[in-house]
Amino acid sequence: MEYLIKTTETQEFIDITHIVREAVNKSGVTDGIAIVFIPHTTAGVTINENADPDVVTDILSGLNKAFPEKNGYLHIEGNSHSHIKASLMGSSCNIIIENGELKLGTWQGIYFCEFDGPRNRNVFIKIVRG
Ligand code: ZN
Repeated sequence: MEYLIKTTETQEFIDITHIVREAVNKSGVTDGIAIVFIPHTTAGVTINENADPDVVTDILSGLNKAFPEKNGYLHIEGNSHSHIKASLMGSSCNIIIENGELKLGTWQGIYFCEFDGPRNRNVFIKIVRG
């Protein structure tokens, strides 16, 4: 399954848990694995707290302090900081599906991580029975 996300900021974390849940429901799979894959080099995916929105704001601010926009990078496109952050977050995550539900922790949400927006982005989701 392929989902389109339109990001609106240069950098932002977007909660996509409901999209993954919808993919699970559509598949009819009650026990298995949901694979979320981001086919981009300047965007990623991560799982973290969705109770306090300040947490993802702080993650982004920490990443920006560690990897500022300009830092003597070589990549001519000028967005090396975006590539680095995307690699750190990762391009995929797996979530166990049990009894038709995503087996996430109480405070966990799945976040699409935009580091070079705004853009139209894709999220690929594969639901595997097993
Ligand atoms: Zn680049």
